[in-house]
Amino acid sequence: MASASVLSVTQQLAAIDISKGQPTATSTRPVRAKQPTQSNVSKLLSKYAAPNPSKANLSTSSLRQPVTTTASDTQTHRTPTPGKGATQTGIDIGRYDGGFEIDNEKRGEKVYGEAAEDLALDSSVSRTRPTREWNLASFDIGRPLGKGKFGRVYMVRTKSEPKYILAVKCLYKSEIVQSKVEKQTRREIEIQQNLRHPNVLRLYGYFHDEKRIFLMLEFAGKGELYKQLSKHGCFSEKRSSRYIDQMADALSYLHSKHVIHRDIKPENLLLGINGELKIGDFGWSVHAPGNRRMTLCGTLDYLPPEMVEGREHSEKVDYWALGVLTYEFLIGNPPFEDRNSVNATYRRIARVDLKIPSHVSPEARDLISKLLKYDPEQRISLAEVARHPWIVKYRPKQSSSGGSGAQ
Ligand code: ATP
Ligand code: MG
Repeated sequence: MASASVLSVTQQLAAIDISKGQPTATSTRPVRAKQPTQSNVSKLLSKYAAPNPSKANLSTSSLRQPVTTTASDTQTHRTPTPGKGATQTGIDIGRYDGGFEIDNEKRGEKVYGEAAEDLALDSSVSRTRPTREWNLASFDIGRPLGKGKFGRVYMVRTKSEPKYILAVKCLYKSEIVQSKVEKQTRREIEIQQNLRHPNVLRLYGYFHDEKRIFLMLEFAGKGELYKQLSKHGCFSEKRSSRYIDQMADALSYLHSKHVIHRDIKPENLLLGINGELKIGDFGWSVHAPGNRRMTLCGTLDYLPPEMVEGREHSEKVDYWALGVLTYEFLIGNPPFEDRNSVNATYRRIARVDLKIPSHVSPEARDLISKLLKYDPEQRISLAEVARHPWIVKYRPKQSSSGGSGAQ
């Protein structure tokens, strides 16, 4: 597309959420041109990573509102030294390997007909939260962050001021169509764009070209929680409790919006730059619940009895999964795992065959067994989780509930 005109730069700026009172967005740009050391890279990243609301200002959002430039904004967003690319904000976004172009040459075909309409996704024409127009040329592309089923993910920085750091994830339309998930993908992207919670990975906007959809995602600076869990084997009681507190808070929020996650597991959780937990990847976790593990590892570890038995299910499936997650954090593997057969796992889940090792504290044990109840109605509520002694014990004094970073 055409290079950024003054108008489009203004439009791009307007499309980013620059909520008032957000330290990430309103802090003054660093004056130093010096390359940052490793430790201040994370400080800078906290500053320039595109904002996700803190608990205090959950309702503030200006994604769909063009930002009117005030005197203080002008000052805040003024560039000290013009046009220096990667080092201008002091954050090295890494080297782009050309992956979007390389892939695009060989991967996927154009999509026609109804599917093409379903996948013509552009947040600038979104009914609920329209943003300004974005396209791939709006970003400096940096290092690859990973590869997903439908495409690659890159660290990027907006070319327009303020130069926010984001993750851009690409999905190939033809592959979505092949997997027959175009309607689901569309619905879930639209849902995700309306969610605002510090522990829910933010979707700022999306755009598409003939073959691809691009998602502008909050950058999760510390990557996948699953990697951490694999590295450490399991987490301490304190760390686990902090994560579960944040999970319970995020899930309460999702449920209040009538969104049931249904696919909670460490693989779907990311970590923000300060180690805070971010539920990611549920929008386009275009897998049926549990499907990923089922196909990859032959397990169904996070499914509750009601789903295993094919009964109706409610948001209480997420309570169960929270119990499984607590267990996996503390012990290092899920509670009903049976490496021999899928059926054996099914049976263990249906019988709630729960054995908690003796090193687990009585408080943690209490919480796990109150979440892992066969009858969904008997499971402890998320509000009760937030008040549970094992959660309260490790919660930093200043915060009233989850939402903040884990130590
Ligand atoms: P799937 O397509 O099944 O979801 P996946 O979860 O492996 O597969 P993606 O979600 O597309 O794939 O992401 C690929 C990898 O890129 C992730 O595993 C993660 O390491 C990284 N990644 C994805 N999104 C972000 C993000 N917002 N911030 C930082 N890293 C990310
Ligand atoms: Mg994923």
